[in-house]
Amino acid sequence: MIAKVEPLTTARALRGPFDYLLGPSMDGVGVGSMLVVPFARRRILGVVVEVVEHSDVAPDKLVEPLSALESDVPPELVTLGLWVAHEYVSTPARGLALVLPPGTGTGSGRRTRPRRSLLAALTAAGRDVPSETGHGSRLGERQRAALHALRAGPARVSDLARTTGCDHAGARRLEERGLVTLEWADQAPRRPASSVIGARPVIDALTGAQATALHDVIEAMDAPAGTDRRQLLHGVTGSGKTEVYLRAVAATIDRSKTAIVLVPEIALTPQTAGRFVERFGDTVAILHSKLTARERFDEWSRLRSGAAKVCVGPRSAVFAPLVDIGLIVVDEEHDGSYKQEGDPRYDARHVAERRAAGVDCVLLAGSATPRPESFRRFRRLVLSERVDGRGMPPVEVVGMAGVKGVLHQRTRDALSEVARAGEKAIVLLNRRGWSNFLTCGECGRVWECPDCDVSLVLHRSAGEVSCHHCGHSEAIPGSCPECRSVSLTRHGTGTEQLGVELERLVAPLPVFRLDADTVAKEGVAATLERFEAAESGGVLVGTQMVAKGHDFADVTLGVVLDADATLRFPDFRAEERTFALVAQLAGRSGRGPRGGRVVVQALDPAARALQHAATHDSLGFLEGELERRGALAYPPDGHLIRVVCSSTDAGPEHRAAQALAKRIAPPGASVLGPVPLFRRQGRERAQLVIKGRDREAGIVAVRRAVEEAMGAMAKEGVNVAVDVDPQ
Ligand code: ADP
Ligand code: ZN
Ligand code: ZN
Repeated sequence: MIAKVEPLTTARALRGPFDYLLGPSMDGVGVGSMLVVPFARRRILGVVVEVVEHSDVAPDKLVEPLSALESDVPPELVTLGLWVAHEYVSTPARGLALVLPPGTGTGSGRRTRPRRSLLAALTAAGRDVPSETGHGSRLGERQRAALHALRAGPARVSDLARTTGCDHAGARRLEERGLVTLEWADQAPRRPASSVIGARPVIDALTGAQATALHDVIEAMDAPAGTDRRQLLHGVTGSGKTEVYLRAVAATIDRSKTAIVLVPEIALTPQTAGRFVERFGDTVAILHSKLTARERFDEWSRLRSGAAKVCVGPRSAVFAPLVDIGLIVVDEEHDGSYKQEGDPRYDARHVAERRAAGVDCVLLAGSATPRPESFRRFRRLVLSERVDGRGMPPVEVVGMAGVKGVLHQRTRDALSEVARAGEKAIVLLNRRGWSNFLTCGECGRVWECPDCDVSLVLHRSAGEVSCHHCGHSEAIPGSCPECRSVSLTRHGTGTEQLGVELERLVAPLPVFRLDADTVAKEGVAATLERFEAAESGGVLVGTQMVAKGHDFADVTLGVVLDADATLRFPDFRAEERTFALVAQLAGRSGRGPRGGRVVVQALDPAARALQHAATHDSLGFLEGELERRGALAYPPDGHLIRVVCSSTDAGPEHRAAQALAKRIAPPGASVLGPVPLFRRQGRERAQLVIKGRDREAGIVAVRRAVEEAMGAMAKEGVNVAVDVDPQ
C-alpha cells in the first residue's frame, strides 16, 4: 500500500503530498497516522492524508517511512484540517497542525508523548528480604528502604526516589538481582483544576420555553440522516440558555455520542465551563490557553481515547479529536474571540458549521445578540423571557453633548443610589489605561508609538505610556523633548482613571477593576470572585470583559460609557458590535429579586443600534441590519476577503497590493483598494478588499493571485496576509 503523506513544514513551496511505501512493519498505519519520513536527506514529520493501492512514482524511487508515532487523529479531522487550509488560503501543513495533538504544530519541533511512568513491584524473592540489615551485604540502605516501602504495593520509581532516596539506577540494580520487577505503564492523565464561580442550585424543572427549545434540539438530533440540523438558540440574557446546552449534551451522551461545546475565552468567562464540569465531571475535557503543554496533551488524549466524551473550550476546541459527534454547541456565538488571528485566520463558527455538516450532527449556536448570518440561515429557537419571568431592566440612553467630565448626572445619581442601598453595579468603558493620549501644552507634540501610527496610552500606576498595538512602552515623560515645556496635557479617560473616580463617588463601596492590565496581575476569576463575595455592595468597572456572560443575581445597575465609540469606526460590523455590547452589558443587570436598571451614555443617543438595545429589540435590530447589509452586499448576502501587504519601507507594500489587485479577478466580484492602513509594528501596510457573492470563486481567485505573486513579493520584502471573512 502507498501512503500519501503531507509534510508538516512551514515552507509554502514544499507541495505535498508525497508517496511512501507501507511495508509490513507499518501495519495499522492509515489516514491520520503521523509518520517520520525520509525527505531529501532529512527526516521530517508528516501526516497520512490518503492510503492508495498504486503510486505514479517509479517503484525504485519509492521509500518507506522511518517510523510511526503513537498518536494519530481521526480521518475526519484530516479532511477538516485540509479544508480549513483551503478555505482560509493557507497551507496544508498549517491546516493540519490545527488538528494534530497539541505540541505537534509546524512551529515547535518538540513533541509531547503520552505520560508514562516506570512502576516497581516486589518479586517473591524481594518480599523475603528482611527489613533489617544482615542480608546480602551489597544491598544499600536506600535500596533496603525501597524494598520495605514496596511491601505496601507497587509504586512509581520516581516516587520511590523521593521517599526513600533509591533512584532509577538503584531500582535497576534491584531488578538485576531479581528482587523487583520494573515495567513501563501509561499513567492516567491528570485533570487540571477548574474553578467554579457562583455554584448554582440544581435546576429541577425547565421553564416552558426551555423545554420547547430542548425538545426541538433533540428532535433535530434524532431526525433522519441528511436533515438540516443547524439551530440558533436566540434567548434574551438570563433566559437560561446554559441549562438548555447542558441538557442537550446529556441527551447526546444518552445516545452514546459525543459533544463539543465552544465558549468564548475561558479565562474571561470561567462560569460556563465550570457548570459543565459540575454537571458531567470527568466526562468533560477542558481545553484552554492556561493549561500547561502537558495538561493540554493529557486532555487531548482523554478525548482521543474516548475517556472524555465532551470537550469544552474556546475556538481551538472545534478541532477536538472526538468521534461519533452528536452535537456542537457555540455559546455566545456573537463573540469576536471565535476568530483566530494567526495563519490560518479561521473562524471557529464557520469551521463548526462545516464539521457539523460533515459528520451530520446538530449545530446549536446560542446568543442574546446573534449575528445576522446565523439569524438568517439557522432554525431559530426562542427564549423570549428571563427565567422566573423577571422583566428586562429598563434602559435609559443619555446624551453627552456639552457634558463636562466622564459621568452624566443621571449616571452619578444612579451610582449614588446603589452606594446608598449597598447594591452592586457594573460599569463598562471600553478603553483601558488612565488617559488615551498625551500632548504638549506648549508645542502640541503628541506622544506616538515609534513603530505604529497610533498615540501612546498613559498608564499611571505602571508609570508608563504604552502602545496598545505592539506593546512598546516608555516612562511617563516629565517634559516635552522638543520644546522642554513641562505643561503636558492628558486627554480622555480610561478604566484606570474611571476606577479612581468611582471610588470617590461610591465610597465606602469597594470598586473592582477588570481589564487587560488587572488581569495580568490577578486573573479574571479572582476579580469576579471578589466582586461576587462583596456582601454589602460594590462596583465592577472595566472593558468589554465585564459584559461577557457573567451571571450575578445581585447586580442592580449596569452603565455603559461612550457607548457609540464603536460606531465611529468605519466597519460594516460596527452597528452589530455596538448593539451586542450594550445589550450584553444590560443583560448583566437585574437578574435577581431586586430588579435592575441600565444607563447608557452616548454622544448620539438616537443611534439605531443604541435605540434597539435600549428597548431590548434584537429582532427589530436584526431585521434592519439584514436589510442594510443586503443593500450593500455585505455578509450574509456577500462575502469579503481582506488582503494586507506589508513592508518595512513605504512603497513596496503599495505596489504589491496594486499588482495583486490587477491579478485578482473573481467573476462578479469587486476589488476595493489598495488603501493604506496605519503603520503597525514598524511595517507600512496596504489593504485590498474583495467583495462578491460567490465565496468559493473569491477564495480561488485570491489564492491563485497570491501564489503567483509570492516570489516577486518576497524579493521586495513584502509580506502578505489573507483574511477570509475579516472581522
Ligand atoms: P443566559 O445564558 O441565557 O444568559 P443563564 O444560563 O446564565 O442565562 O441562566 C440565568 C440563571 O437562571 C442562572 O443562574 C441559572 O442557574 C438560572 N436558571 C436557568 N434555568 C432555570 C430554571 N429552569 N429554573 C430556575 N433557574 C434557572
Ligand atoms: Zn512641546
Ligand atoms: Zn506600537
